[in-house]
Formats: sequence, C-alpha cells, structure tokens
Amino acid sequence: MAYIICEPCIGNKEAACYEVCPVDAIHPGKSEDGYEETDQLYINPDDCIECGACAAECPVEAIYQEDEVPEAWKSYIEKNANYYK
Ligand code: SF4
Repeated sequence: MAYIICEPCIGNKEAACYEVCPVDAIHPGKSEDGYEETDQLYINPDDCIECGACAAECPVEAIYQEDEVPEAWKSYIEKNANYYK
C-alpha cells in the first residue's frame, strides 16, 4: 500500500510533498523534467513507505492513504501508479 495524490493537486502542484518525502517517491518536483507539463504530482507506490509526511504537508489536502482515498477519487490510485510504468 501507499499514499495517493488525488484531484486537489491538479492546478496547484505546490510540491511541498516532494520536499519532505524521505525516500524520493514523489515526482515530478518543481526542478524536474515534466513538472511544467504535468497536471499533478504522483507517488510511486513501489517506493512509498507510508510515513505520512507528504499528507501532513499538503496545503490542499490532496494526499490520502490508499485505504482512505475518498470514493470519488479512487481512480487516482491507478493514475499514481501508471505515472511510473
Ligand atoms: Fe513519501 Fe512518506 Fe508520502 Fe510515502 S507517505 S510518498 S514515503 S512522504
């Protein structure tokens, strides 16, 4: 399981999560390729260690533990994983 970035990130891309992730599981950061083009940031489920630091930092409450993703945003579980395939 992992944390998931959901719809509120779209158009915000604050990237506070990117700064705090201890295992570099969140991309693209502001200085990385793809940041300008992407709608949102994504968490790599293979790297996330479920520390919760990103969720606590997110100013728009876009990040949820996989089990707690609101029903309307369930598709974001796959969207996050697909970014890394
Ligand atoms: Fe990184 Fe922790 Fe967020 Fe997982 S829960 S993406 S490890 S900050």
